[in-house]
Parts: sequence; structure tokens; C-alpha cells
Amino acid sequence: MPFSLDEIDVSILKSILEDGRKSFRQVSRETGITTPTVKARYERLVNVGFIKGVLPVFDFEKVESNGEKNLIQLDDLKENTKKRKSIHKGAHNSNLKEEVDEIKKRITSGLTINIVCDFCEGPVFGNPKILKFANIERFFCCISCKSGYTQKYRGRIESIKKRYEGKSELDE
Ligand SMILES: [Zn+2]
Repeated sequence: MPFSLDEIDVSILKSILEDGRKSFRQVSRETGITTPTVKARYERLVNVGFIKGVLPVFDFEKVESNGEKNLIQLDDLKENTKKRKSIHKGAHNSNLKEEVDEIKKRITSGLTINIVCDFCEGPVFGNPKILKFANIERFFCCISCKSGYTQKYRGRIESIKKRYEGKSELDE
């Protein structure tokens, strides 16, 4: 392709930027996009590697520091959090809000996400070959990478499928 964000992706991303714990149904209600579409788009954004995770936001100002050891640990934590270079690096809510606004500005439709082949790790030009199992999608540069991957991970793919199907039955 590579993969480009459209208006639907942008609405979903902006909605979960406010609160990453929202359910698909909540996002659907807010955006007017159907729940299955929200779910499918979210999963695709995870599968292409654009959504790396949904993390809690900590306020380290609220951490009580008693003794040197605790201070060191706190500094380590602050350092680690900074290193993640995520929106969570700000300890103050005002900084966080500014950063969320900044990210919102950058998330626009047409934003292109480069896809790397999940087998050879080379770039994917043109339409990727897609392997879909459970709620997972893997992208490949060519048919032989796709079949190479399928053969190499056959066991793992089967067990993920089985677990996923079991779970879907419980959901209903
Ligand atoms: Zn490849």
C-alpha cells in the first residue's frame, strides 16, 4: 500500500486519546461509527504497529518520597517514563493535555504508516500479502514470505486460532 489513515481511523484515534480504557461500544457511540468497524479498525491499527499500547498516566508528584532509596527509585521511574517519549512523560496534567493536543494535530487522514514484511523485515512495496488469523493480521512483501511465515509458525497460529474461537463462543 502502504497503509494510510482515513477519517474513520482519525476519529477513533482521537476518541481513545481522551481515554484509552473506553470500550469499542463507547467509541462507537461517540463517533457514530459502528462497533464492529471500530473494533476492526482498532485491531488493524494495532496490527500495522501504529498503536503500540495503551498505558496508564502516572502523576509522580503524588509519590511520597521518604528516604534516599525511594528517591532513587522515583528518579529511575521518571527517567524511564521520559525515555518512552510518549504523551505520558509530563507529570503535570497541563503538560499532558498540551501533548495530547499536539498528537491530535499530527493525527490526520492520509497519514501514511510504513509496513515492514513480518517475515523478511524488508519494506513492503505495493499491496501487502495479508495473513489473517483470529484478530491478528500479518503483512508480507511477497507470497513466499507469507508461506514461509505460515510454515514456520503453523503451531503457534493454530493455537492462537483455537484460543480465539473458544473466547468468541464465551462472549456470545
Ligand atoms: Zn518479505
